[in-house]
Amino acid sequence: MSFEPAALPPERPSERRLLIVYRERDLMVRARGTAVTLPSAATSGELGVALDGEQYLGRLAGVDCYASHVPAEIDPPAEHEFVGLRSLWTRLPEDEFWLAGRGYQIVEWDRTHRYCGRCGAPTENAVPERAKRCSACGLSSFPRLSPAVIVCVTRGNEILLAQGTRFPGAFYSVLAGFVEPGESLEETVAREIKEEVGIEVENIRYYGSQPWPFPHSLMIGFSADYKSGELVLDPEEIAAADWYTRDALPELPPHLSIARTLIDAYIEGSLGSP
Ligand SMILES: [Zn+2]
Repeated sequence: MSFEPAALPPERPSERRLLIVYRERDLMVRARGTAVTLPSAATSGELGVALDGEQYLGRLAGVDCYASHVPAEIDPPAEHEFVGLRSLWTRLPEDEFWLAGRGYQIVEWDRTHRYCGRCGAPTENAVPERAKRCSACGLSSFPRLSPAVIVCVTRGNEILLAQGTRFPGAFYSVLAGFVEPGESLEETVAREIKEEVGIEVENIRYYGSQPWPFPHSLMIGFSADYKSGELVLDPEEIAAADWYTRDALPELPPHLSIARTLIDAYIEGSLGSP
């Protein structure tokens, strides 16, 4: 993606700008027939809706990008609609989809950090940093990111896939969990696997990462080898889990996610070894 992030708009703005506008969790898109794109305008006012808290994101292919939001009761302008971001995967151009995810996280931070968490005084944007600084006590607040590990566990030619209790009847996927304060990523991997399915793993290897703006995660992918133990499921988290071979896989997650990328790497035999 030819995106150059920045918190401060350039001295010479581009002629048009891309606008990432949220109403709650829904993104404003320009929809004509089946074609869907981010709104584009010469000025933010051109859209005809009052935007709250504009944040400069950077440039996508030379075009300035701004993120903001509107109150829940606002109707979209003509030829525009508000749509849940997740459903726009494959409908929006891919670089615009990920930019909109970045914008969502910045907008959420902008909306929820207008007052200092320590003393309650109003905050100010501390550009060129992506930060808000308290006008009274100077406390800085940065956009929230919640790191989570996601792990593809294999045993010989089998892969461990599980169905979470939060989405009953849905697809099977690899296991994931949030990093806790004080943990290394490798410790999170070992703890989550042990807690959710009762087994020990070894040879924990970094695979890759993916921003996951639903609402503010960073997914950090690993592969690991089964070491010991029997599957004992945590009934709070895991509805079902088992070992599968390539020729008998259950329903898998959509291609959007790093979960699917990890599973596809297992299927292709390209997960790598230590
Ligand atoms: Zn303060």
